[in-house]
Amino acid sequence: MLAHVPVTPIDIEEYRPIVGDATIDELRALSEPLRGMVVHHVNATAFGGGVAEILQSLVPILQSLGIRAEWRVIRGADEFFSLTKRIHNSLQGLYAPFTPDDQQVYLRYQESNAALVESEADVTVVHDPQPAGLFPALIQLREHHPGGGWIWRCHIDLTEAQPDVWDFVASQIAPYDAVVFSLEQFVRQVREGQILRVLAPAIDPRTPKNAALSLESSRSIVARHGVDPDRPFLLQVSRFDPWKDPQGVIDVYRMIKQVIPRAQLVLIASMADDDPEGWSYYERTARRAGEDFDIHLLSNLNGVGNVEVNAFQQLATVVLQKSIREGFGLTVTEALWKARPVVASNAGGIPLQIINGKTGYLVGNNVQCAAGALRLLQKPRVAARIGRNGREHVRRHFLITRLVRDELMLYRDVLRQRALAGGERQPISQ
Ligand code: UDP
Repeated sequence: MLAHVPVTPIDIEEYRPIVGDATIDELRALSEPLRGMVVHHVNATAFGGGVAEILQSLVPILQSLGIRAEWRVIRGADEFFSLTKRIHNSLQGLYAPFTPDDQQVYLRYQESNAALVESEADVTVVHDPQPAGLFPALIQLREHHPGGGWIWRCHIDLTEAQPDVWDFVASQIAPYDAVVFSLEQFVRQVREGQILRVLAPAIDPRTPKNAALSLESSRSIVARHGVDPDRPFLLQVSRFDPWKDPQGVIDVYRMIKQVIPRAQLVLIASMADDDPEGWSYYERTARRAGEDFDIHLLSNLNGVGNVEVNAFQQLATVVLQKSIREGFGLTVTEALWKARPVVASNAGGIPLQIINGKTGYLVGNNVQCAAGALRLLQKPRVAARIGRNGREHVRRHFLITRLVRDELMLYRDVLRQRALAGGERQPISQ
């Protein structure tokens, strides 16, 4: 059997005070005809990364609505995961050689995982490229369609995908009934007749990263990390990575510091000890920060985990997200949810979240970024209004309950399409 990931039960009613009656009632109505259906989500890892984050909430919420949802992970050795990491990077635009041998390794692991699939679900959702070949491998193994509806859910940015790698992945996802992307600009049509959906990511307002924290706890966490909670501070939460432009953030802070000498800057990143790239970029960022003790570079290595990120996001005077390239930008969603005024660049999914002048400021360069942040620092009433709008925008569009609704509609549509096809496979043509 594919390894089963246990989840902590959640009661959907816990979201009612946060999202309101209409949303919860709609979820109950949508799930009513689907009660008892079996849904399997399959991905590559139980910990780390956005997919695991989403499944930890999505699966138990579906269960609370009467859906028999389960989370399974595929098995693989180092050779497989280092290959799929390369595939992942080249789909996101970093060139890497991709040989016929690589394809064989990939297919071999799909076959061995297909042999571990025992029970069949009404709908199986396969996440990202690592397990994408599971469905075609099952068809081959059983010599017929394994039953149920099959959905491939892509969480990555495909705009600069390396063509040979994408062609290979596309050949694996051609048989799926539906393909789902995170943003309109990532959509790729793989074959006629396949259901195509765009489902934006979402955050769970009940997790330690997003739940309300008392002002005292937030202040004491911030102070414990050497930041003065009584002075204004700018915050960016992002890996030390050139695409997140931490050096640009320091340049922006310096412009602001000339006008507001009390200002502080906090950069929070998560560092993996096996990520040499992260360390070398950390060093470059630290050099740019120099001897300014009002610049704080913090990470998980200083004990900054989910609750600490939450506290910094709750207390930041202005949140920055200066990404040069971005997927969706969950850090923006998290900050908006905490009613923080955000100044961010116009990249990836950020413009879906920041409506310029209403839920934050969208900026094109350092000078605009500094001007936007300065305005928010100097006009607390404007900052408060923008913060409130941002929270409301996230409440409506980017909370997990919206994602649950989209998922339920997708399962319904996939089941309908399969019923229309009489349970038969439609011809597959690429
Ligand atoms: N994050 C964190 N600690 C850090 C840095 C980032 O918990 O030190 C989290 C952040 O809160 C967000 C995610 O990592 O939930 C980053 O997601 P995003 O979409 O912003 O960027 P990505 O890293 O996926 O490009």
